[in-house]
Amino acid sequence: MTDARRLYRLHASIVVLGALVVGIAVGVAATRFRLDPGLGGACADLLSRHDVLASGCLALLALGAVATTRFSVTFLRLVRAHCRVTSNLRPVACRDDVVIVEGSRPSAFCAGLLRPRIYVSAGATTALEPDELASVIAHERHHAVRRDPLRLVLAASAASGLFFLPVLRRLLDRYADLAEFAADDAACETPDRRRALAAALLVFDDAGAGVAPQRVDRLCGSGQGVDLPLTPLFWAAVAMTGLAGATAAVAMGAARGSVAVLVVAPHAVVGLALAMTPILLIGALRHRTVRAA
Ligand SMILES: [Zn+2]
Repeated sequence: MTDARRLYRLHASIVVLGALVVGIAVGVAATRFRLDPGLGGACADLLSRHDVLASGCLALLALGAVATTRFSVTFLRLVRAHCRVTSNLRPVACRDDVVIVEGSRPSAFCAGLLRPRIYVSAGATTALEPDELASVIAHERHHAVRRDPLRLVLAASAASGLFFLPVLRRLLDRYADLAEFAADDAACETPDRRRALAAALLVFDDAGAGVAPQRVDRLCGSGQGVDLPLTPLFWAAVAMTGLAGATAAVAMGAARGSVAVLVVAPHAVVGLALAMTPILLIGALRHRTVRAA
């Protein structure tokens, strides 16, 4: 696939479908509980007939809680990181929609979630030739028009929230690549512009910006698109079908009655704690790894 917009739509469609399935699952599970003051009777009821139904309800509710928590935490973390980056910039001049910021190292990027702007370091304005700088600004302008910073934050948060669909992470990586290719194409209407942008990327790379070599190859005419992760797409379909099946099973369990909240509340706390433990452990390990690096 070579079209960033189509890939983003595919990602968004899977997110909407996944969120819909989780929402329906949580809604169905929530309706299976009842407030029952007769704790003793409810206990007997649960143990005798509804333990499977209760487990299914708890699993679906825990899934909804974990998905919502992960989405919210990732979204807030990424927004905070984005704000930190933009607040640390020191503007020295403005040229139309371009902000020149302090810094001797050549760099250029688009930042801002609601009002994206183009930032170019002072070092880039001296290290690049005028046509190279114009190509770089045209590239970043495409990111700003497409609101790519916001799109990437939302897509990354959704991929984190719907953790049981790992294909979203793969599609996000591919979208990030295609968004760069699309911005390169928008900035390079002529072969001279392509050469200028490729030269600018090499300057950035020499300065340690870590430019993807595929971009330079593509600008020189030897690049390709990205492959769709077909196997993870298949497993995503299987996961959503399984979740829909579990939801249907819980919904059909309505014929056997509902489950008392007072009985399952302690189980819910334990279930949530068990579900959150690996997530918190992975988060703590990642944090330690980043700090060690
Ligand atoms: Zn870019």
